Amino acid sequence: MEERGSPDGDPARNHEQGPEGPETPIQVVLRVRPMSAAELRRGEQSALHCSGTRTLQVSPPGGGPDVAFRFGAVLDGARTQEEVFRACGVRRLGELALRGFSCTIFTYGQTGSGKTYTLTGPPPQGEGVPVPPGLAGIMQRTFAWLLDRVQHLGTPVTLRASYLEIYNEQVQDLLSLGTPRPLPVRWNKTRGFYVEQLRVVEFGSLESLMELLQMGLSRRRSSAHTLNQASSRSHALLTLYITRKPPQQMPPVDSREPPGGGKLCFVDLAGSEKVAATGSRGELMLEANSINRSLLALSHCISLLLDPQRKQSHIPFRDSKLTKLLADSLGGRGVTLMVACVSPSAQCLPETLSTLRYASRAQRVTTRPQVPKTPVATQPQRLETEMLQLQEENHRLRTQLDQRDFKPSRTSGTQVAWAQRNLYGMLQEFMLENERLRKEKSQLQSSRDLARSEQRVLSQQVHELERRLLSACYLHHPAPGPAHPCPCLMPASSCHALPPICSWPCCHICPLCHAPLTHWACPRRELHLPQVFGPEAPPSMPLSARPPPWAPPCSSASTKCSRERSHSDWTQTRDLAEMLTKEEVVPSAPPLPMGTPNSSPVLRGAARVPSLARRLEALRDQIGSSLRRGRNQPPPSEDPQSPGRVLPPC
Ligand code: ADP
Ligand code: MG
Repeated sequence: MEERGSPDGDPARNHEQGPEGPETPIQVVLRVRPMSAAELRRGEQSALHCSGTRTLQVSPPGGGPDVAFRFGAVLDGARTQEEVFRACGVRRLGELALRGFSCTIFTYGQTGSGKTYTLTGPPPQGEGVPVPPGLAGIMQRTFAWLLDRVQHLGTPVTLRASYLEIYNEQVQDLLSLGTPRPLPVRWNKTRGFYVEQLRVVEFGSLESLMELLQMGLSRRRSSAHTLNQASSRSHALLTLYITRKPPQQMPPVDSREPPGGGKLCFVDLAGSEKVAATGSRGELMLEANSINRSLLALSHCISLLLDPQRKQSHIPFRDSKLTKLLADSLGGRGVTLMVACVSPSAQCLPETLSTLRYASRAQRVTTRPQVPKTPVATQPQRLETEMLQLQEENHRLRTQLDQRDFKPSRTSGTQVAWAQRNLYGMLQEFMLENERLRKEKSQLQSSRDLARSEQRVLSQQVHELERRLLSACYLHHPAPGPAHPCPCLMPASSCHALPPICSWPCCHICPLCHAPLTHWACPRRELHLPQVFGPEAPPSMPLSARPPPWAPPCSSASTKCSRERSHSDWTQTRDLAEMLTKEEVVPSAPPLPMGTPNSSPVLRGAARVPSLARRLEALRDQIGSSLRRGRNQPPPSEDPQSPGRVLPPC
């Protein structure tokens, strides 16, 4: 009876060939370890017999028919490590990795079947004690071959390495600088599954790489049980990243990001074990359960990959971290080699048969090897294109800038050049101009205020002179009869000879002659100023405190007027007139109508009428000129004259 195996031919020759087509089966090599000293001591018999280089005969206990299994290569316990290395075709995988393929070599089998031995040789005999060269495993031999191959390539190759273990379903970095801590497994479209924040170390020599290997091996979890004194308790993945690009053309790569290019991954699986057979208890049992669970997930994925109808459907790679990280190797674009390890002892035959069946199925799994076209791999070309575009844009912008420099506008060319030379100077210039404008504004405001005050004083003078003139007229031509009452509610104060004390239009019409307020044009102005004044002020009252003679009496009809215009208003006006005219205003207010018409004040007032009229006209001219100066806003220093100086002499 023969299980399905690989086609006829030299397995080594087949492995040295490249991917033969769009679909490439997983290559499987079977290694049967020699009987251990303990097994020989126990008198155990071997149940396996190699037939040729590719067939394994299994003799079931109890004398049944042999079962044959065919693999790419079958290597018995007599084969040396070097022969195993050559027979596995690892160099072919190395060549494919140098061409950019993603290649995986993983060992599979029962615990104690020789997986770790096949990959890395016997366990180290002490700290820092290297494995004897003759016993070095596939990994060390591949490292040596690769470094030698790289040296003869002729093109620079960047080599990096990462090393992790999956222990109890947790990924830990075996090359971490500090204490290893669980790392997440992520997925994206371009990279597939990957370990985040995994340390990737660049190396340039075989010694450096060996140090990394020893560092990881010493950190990896292992325990002793009845079947293996140095049983691996975790799955270990060492990955070499091979990039055939000169370093100066490489884009900057984060040291924690795996670079693009080819990959060569070595996977040392923890062995499946029967807890009863290994006697695992406590933590060992938990580890064994975790190991078995992940191996079962791996087996399930392989079974689904074998089903031609279900191959395109969902494969549960996410069931375990192990299947996630092996997804590309098993069903993706990688090239994969499985080294199935078995024990020859008849005591282990059930596990051996399980491994053989498992490996037989695995070699029917196919992948579609492709050089990964990750963004990182295509980045140099993309960056080169971007760089050329940016250089072109830079050149175009420089040309435009030069043209602008050579063709400045006529109006603003000087300013632009000045601003380009010194923007700070321009700012200073603006500040100085601003300060100058502030001073000018302040001067103009002062001139305006001065003109206003001058205007105010002059208008008061005019007003006062008007009153004095009217008073003189009144004294010279006393009214023959009583005054006509004003038609408004304030008849006594409505005559235009008095300041209007209400806003009613009738108050601006003379009630005597019905002329407008400007009494100068009134033909009957001699009839103005009726006898509306009240009783005489007490003689003891100072002149400045007396109400002017034309002040309205505080009669009942004019109560409102008295309230609205206080006595102080009258005295202030007179004081101001005295101050401005620099003369005695006697009697601008005659001693109220109690004296005779020929009394002295009347004569004096009458004699001063022409003079006052002239002064009034002069004051008007002065007001006009003052207003004009205010509008023209002359500097204050140019107009320091006081209003009294321009008055004509009386
Ligand atoms: P696994 O990794 O599969 O659990 P190991 O590689 O640790 O098993 O091997 C278990 C024991 O068997 C180790 O002591 C190892 O040295 C020994 N051994 C395995 N394979 C061989 C071999 N081909 N030649 C000599 N000793 C071997
Ligand atoms: Mg092991």
